[in-house]
Amino acid sequence: MEFQHKISIIGSTGSIGTQTLDIVRAYPGIRVEAISAYSNVELLEKQAREFLPKTVCAVDEAAAKDLAIRLADTDIRVLSGKEGLVATATAEKAQTVVTAVVGISGLEPTIAAIRAGKNIALANKETLVTGGHLVTALAKEQGVSLLPVDSEHSAIFQSLQGCREHDEIKKILLTASGGPFFGKKREELADVTPEQALKHPNWDMGAKVTIDSSTLVNKGLEVMEAKWLFGVEMSQIEVLVHRQSVVHSMVEYRDNGIIAQLGAPDMRLPIQYAITYPHRLPMKGNVLDFTKYPALTFEQPDTETFYALKLAYQAGEQGGILPCVFNAADEAAVALFLKKKIRYLEIAEVIERAMSDAKKIENPTLEEILETDAQIKQEILKRF
Ligand code: NDP
Ligand code: MG
Repeated sequence: MEFQHKISIIGSTGSIGTQTLDIVRAYPGIRVEAISAYSNVELLEKQAREFLPKTVCAVDEAAAKDLAIRLADTDIRVLSGKEGLVATATAEKAQTVVTAVVGISGLEPTIAAIRAGKNIALANKETLVTGGHLVTALAKEQGVSLLPVDSEHSAIFQSLQGCREHDEIKKILLTASGGPFFGKKREELADVTPEQALKHPNWDMGAKVTIDSSTLVNKGLEVMEAKWLFGVEMSQIEVLVHRQSVVHSMVEYRDNGIIAQLGAPDMRLPIQYAITYPHRLPMKGNVLDFTKYPALTFEQPDTETFYALKLAYQAGEQGGILPCVFNAADEAAVALFLKKKIRYLEIAEVIERAMSDAKKIENPTLEEILETDAQIKQEILKRF
């Protein structure tokens, strides 16, 4: 029988959002109840006409007005603002919400979706980095699943399918491509431009995650994401640079057996698995050809040059508000770097300074997280 499922997507116009819709095209039994984006009305209109969701949201108010005019001849309801984003995430009939927005903007709608009993196909790692303690507790209470979309976490999740007891897990081996500047030293990175940093060797992604991949901030966020998703200690997560992006990550069990998930680099598999879990559905194209990869290599990351990864471990180990501080400082720094207001190496420096200036908050509430995020960003944007 055809696979049937109802989803909503926050961030439908981005890299993950559009690839999610590719899967819907292949499996029309997946029905899209609601979509949202920030301001890309042109694409939202196109998507709305193709997939006929009940509601479409543009968070930006002016964009939403434009969208309402564009869709006036349809029955589709146009929403706006944060309320519209939350309404997308809690769309009545949706069973799974794909969280494909970028940055901390994913936190509140994800919490609302969990409260409404939705499963989460989680791409937005910042949700777990900043509010992991709140989100995992709430998901448990509501009996909903957090299904990873991030390729490494999907690989870990797939490698855990045969795991019977949690303490069988010894270690998680999180692979990293190393990004475009692998092998370079600090001195060589001083003049890196946004254009250079936006060229990722193996994946085609949104701007923020691409810059984060080049600084290894992304890997740092992923270590924290893994900690919450799989209930392990930071010290149990080891980052391994694997230039080919073929082994998407691995689990080392206590009997020293290691289970890995491999495949061609293609985000559609982890997205599809998060939606169709526990089923595996056929997928067209992109089969891994081992003969094209005569050598798979693994090595330690260079945490002297890419020391944001070290900072992420510190943030994740101390916990409390510090991961939120790490994330907020990075979001602000990446935005400044993309506008050429700070230099490449300053991204990690901005994060380090924000972390050392941060006040301690042990178990931050949602309000404290959002407040800290806004304060840190404001302070950094003012400084440059
Ligand atoms: P993109 O930048 O490509 O897309 C972001 C989406 O979020 C767009 O739809 C955008 O709308 C929307 N958006 C941006 N800002 C806001 C806001 N303030 N409020 C509401 N919506 C907003 O990002 P990606 O798809 O690359 O990444 C999405 C998430 O998935 C990130 O957390 C990333 O780390 C994670 N991820 C991505 C991977 C990838 O391959 N791309 C791989 C693994 C994880 P608009 O178009 O209108 O601006
Ligand atoms: Mg990833």
